[in-house]
Amino acid sequence: MSESYRDALVRKKAEILAAGVRPLAAAMEGSSRQGDLADQADGNNEVHIQLKLKQTDAKILQAIEEALVRLDKGTYGTCRDCGEPISLARLNAIPWTRVCITCKEKQST
Ligand SMILES: [Zn+2]
Repeated sequence: MSESYRDALVRKKAEILAAGVRPLAAAMEGSSRQGDLADQADGNNEVHIQLKLKQTDAKILQAIEEALVRLDKGTYGTCRDCGEPISLARLNAIPWTRVCITCKEKQST
């Protein structure tokens, strides 16, 4: 069963790497063609959105790497904070999650 999670993690990682680089490069290229970055509000917003997406992607990538390490160690599916098993429904929805739903809810409040 853990192999299907590994597949999901590896596939998501490839997806982020494939999608992340090109749109950002295109946005940068577009802005530099228009001249001074500071005067190009619209172009800048686009770049900021791309950068924000990249930050989110970077966090997910980091979480994916950690999840792959946990798969190797055999600790995958265990909550980082309380040590309880993470529900399968949650793992299926977010295979790179580090914590169970209870701890996640504690974090966000
Ligand atoms: Zn927990």
